[in-house]
Amino acid sequence: MSLKKNTPFIIPIFLPNLGCPHQCAFCNQTSITGVTPDTISTETLCSLINEFLEYKTIQRRSVQVSFYGGNFLGLKKEYIRILLDETTKFVKNKRINSIRFSTRPDTISDKKLDIIKDYPVSTIEIGVQSMDNQVLAMAKRGHTALETEKAAALLKERNYDVGMQMMVGLPGDDETKSLFTAQRIASFSPDFVRIYPTVVLAHSRLAVWYRNGEYTPWSLSRCVALVKNLYLFFKSKKIPVIRMGLQASEDLAKDTTILAGPYHPAFGHMVHSKIFLDMATSIMGAGKGSCDKITIKVHPRSISKMRGLKNKNLEILKRKFQIKSFEIIPDLTLAEDKLTVAS
Ligand code: SF4
Repeated sequence: MSLKKNTPFIIPIFLPNLGCPHQCAFCNQTSITGVTPDTISTETLCSLINEFLEYKTIQRRSVQVSFYGGNFLGLKKEYIRILLDETTKFVKNKRINSIRFSTRPDTISDKKLDIIKDYPVSTIEIGVQSMDNQVLAMAKRGHTALETEKAAALLKERNYDVGMQMMVGLPGDDETKSLFTAQRIASFSPDFVRIYPTVVLAHSRLAVWYRNGEYTPWSLSRCVALVKNLYLFFKSKKIPVIRMGLQASEDLAKDTTILAGPYHPAFGHMVHSKIFLDMATSIMGAGKGSCDKITIKVHPRSISKMRGLKNKNLEILKRKFQIKSFEIIPDLTLAEDKLTVAS
């Protein structure tokens, strides 16, 4: 994805599983973030923010401090205030612009939102995961879809930017339920969405179910195919999908962290590549007969998406349409999600 000047520069502060009432079946934030659960002191918070501010290169990008990996509104009221008081000092000094955090839908209430109302919090992300009550129950989420509906309404009422995270491939989930979840999410008009495939993280309840055969993770190709459809659905509703797949990290790369499941460090790229493969297949399928050479034009930023990982898309197209050679030409006049094919 290209870095746009209006994309905020995010300073991530991980609060692994802090504020969580229990551990959801699929979750182990320590595995994902490599950070062990512990409250963060104001000194550490300040030095982390300062350290990240040194990396900021594009001056016009806004900066947000983001509390991730736990259930922010589930933290003790006093601790929420300590974190926000300290971070707000950076806003007052004009070193950062605003604050964001992620939280569970069932911790969003008028009472909780009153605690943060005088702080420069602009964005709140809700861990929706699914809008199917059976899937939520099997994932041991401890709330139903109704809490998500109520939370979305409260956040919109208070004019927060709202992000929604959904998962695919949870126990009991399927393509129909995931699409239903996406449709319900779109009905709340969030400002952005993240989509995460379910992987089996070490020391999670899912890991136990996987080992004893109660849970089978989805294949990578099944997840890519479904997430592609979800991405296109959100795009049709003009809702940005800002992430597909877990953020790659050294911790995730270890086979002791992810025991099984559709993890790929370039998951989002695979989804975009599949979209380009489908577009090229459909255009070329509509043409008559086979030809020796094909020229595909795409925006320069979309060349790798058109090629696919290790040129896989080109190999598929070559085989399918018996083409001897391909030329991929960058064309700045094309939109990033478009291509043209000429023989
Ligand atoms: S999914 Fe969210 S609420 Fe559940 S344990 Fe993980 S961080 Fe906590």
